[in-house]
Amino acid sequence: MWVLPTVGSNPTPSAHAGAWTAVAAPSLHNATVGDDEAMELALVEARAAGASGDVPVGAAVLDRHGVLLALGRNRRELDGDPTAHAEVVAIRAAAGAVGSWRLDGSVVVVTLEPCPMCAGALVAARIARVVFGAADAKAGACGSIYNLCADPRLNHEVAVTAGVLADQGGALLAEFFAGRRGGGQRPE
Ligand SMILES: [Zn+2]
Repeated sequence: MWVLPTVGSNPTPSAHAGAWTAVAAPSLHNATVGDDEAMELALVEARAAGASGDVPVGAAVLDRHGVLLALGRNRRELDGDPTAHAEVVAIRAAAGAVGSWRLDGSVVVVTLEPCPMCAGALVAARIARVVFGAADAKAGACGSIYNLCADPRLNHEVAVTAGVLADQGGALLAEFFAGRRGGGQRPE
C-alpha cells in the first residue's frame, strides 16, 4: 500500500499505514528541496517514528535535481523488522517510485548518521551523497567508527555532508531515551 502524505505537515502515525511512504503529491513535482528543508522533512518522519514507539530516526530521498522522491522513518518495532531503519525504508520507497534499484545522483538525508547496514544500502543504491544530522559515536558508519561511504575497496563512493540540523536530530533521540529512563538501547 502506498501512502501519499501531505509533506510539510506532521503525518499521523498509524499502525495500519503501509510499510513505505512514497511521495507523489502533485505540488512536489519539480519543486527542489535543499539540505535543510529536506532535513526538516526527515525530522517530521523521526517524530512520527518516536510517536509510534520506534527510535526517532527519519529520512528523505531527493533525486539528482533535488526533487523529493520519498520519505521513510524507523519502523523496526512497528514492523518487527530488523532491517526497517529509516534509510532502508526511504531508499526502498524511492526505488519503487523511480522503478529502478539504481538511484544514481540521488541524495539521502537522514537525522542520524547511518549504521553499517544503511551505509551499505547507500552504496548498493549508488546514492551520490548522504546528508546526516547527529553523529552516532557508537554505530555510525559514515565517519564515526567506519566510513563505508569512502572506502576505495567498494565499487561506489558516497559523498558525506555531516551535522545538518544535528542539534534537532540529536535532541529527539535524547528525549526519546530519557523518556524510557534507562532503556539504554543503542539508537540503531
Ligand atoms: Zn541503519
